[in-house]
Amino acid sequence: MTDLSPLDAAGVDAAIDDALAAIAAATTLDELKEARLAHTGDKAPLSLANRQIGGLEPADKATAGKNMGKARARVNEAIAGRQAQLEAERDARVLVEETVDVTLPVSRELKGARHPLETMQERMCDTFVAMGWEVAEGPEMEAEWFNFDALNFDPDHPAREMQDTFFIDPPEAGLLLRTHTSPVQVRAALERRDALENEGRGIYVVCPGKTFRTDELDATHTPVFHQIEGLAVDKGLTMAHLKGTLDAFARSLFGPDAVTRLRPSFFPFTEPSAEMDLRCFVCDGGDPACRTCSGTGWIEWGGCGMTHPNVLRAAGIDPEKYTAFAFGMGIERTLMFRHGVKDMRDMVEGDVHFSQQFGMEI
Ligand SMILES: [Zn+2]
Repeated sequence: MTDLSPLDAAGVDAAIDDALAAIAAATTLDELKEARLAHTGDKAPLSLANRQIGGLEPADKATAGKNMGKARARVNEAIAGRQAQLEAERDARVLVEETVDVTLPVSRELKGARHPLETMQERMCDTFVAMGWEVAEGPEMEAEWFNFDALNFDPDHPAREMQDTFFIDPPEAGLLLRTHTSPVQVRAALERRDALENEGRGIYVVCPGKTFRTDELDATHTPVFHQIEGLAVDKGLTMAHLKGTLDAFARSLFGPDAVTRLRPSFFPFTEPSAEMDLRCFVCDGGDPACRTCSGTGWIEWGGCGMTHPNVLRAAGIDPEKYTAFAFGMGIERTLMFRHGVKDMRDMVEGDVHFSQQFGMEI
């Protein structure tokens, strides 16, 4: 092939035909690239012939130049034409192959949801944080002293029985799963008593968290449940401050008309003690057929009272100088009557459909 002379018009035509055939035969852009290199690259017959022009007799140069110019023009034109054609085909194919039908139904994967107990707990804490209170937390595995002794439970109090409380082996370690969040009150008071004494900073804490009792799981019981408790220690606190705090708490959860009432009761860690009821937010106390309050007009919500002097002493606080009030309620119970949840088990089974009803899908 290196013998092709730029003066050999028939030979040049044959080389052009070879090139045009190869270009026409290319069905992809890659094949076209190969054809281009083979017929216009440095080693192509037409290129080699073109390079001979310089060595020709002056009289032949014009003819040779004309032959080769025609050849280059035809081949380049064919390549450009085929290139445009193949690119158009590729673009059309990509449009078809990569088409997305936006009208197709998609498979929606469930992403989970925050549990309503968690969001309820946050909502409750937010209410108190907005009033300047702190959120305090403590261990779920607790010393018996914090759980019972510091809270003024008698050594023979029935709550200490094995059938109510999960004790941790070995028994002499004095550890248990806390039966209420009240031990956190004692811990929080111990941590803050210096600031109370030295700086006059009153103690205002809420303590949310898990608690444990040896109940079987059924519609109204669960061995693991959540409480939130509050403790306020300061100079001159009275039941009126307690009642005002509870009413503010009720209004934040149940609306501006929410009202609480206190009924005398007994707890080891408060004196006086009271049960705290919420006026039914569904019937406002006026419907004998109301299912939320069973027609009584009031919903039992939690317990409260003025902190017993012995509890303050256990936390190293002088009950002659300071008074304190405390309250506590179940978060499950609050969620049940606030949202009409009928079965405790719905809250522990972890079915995401339950949680999603509360509108906190993530
Ligand atoms: Zn009612």
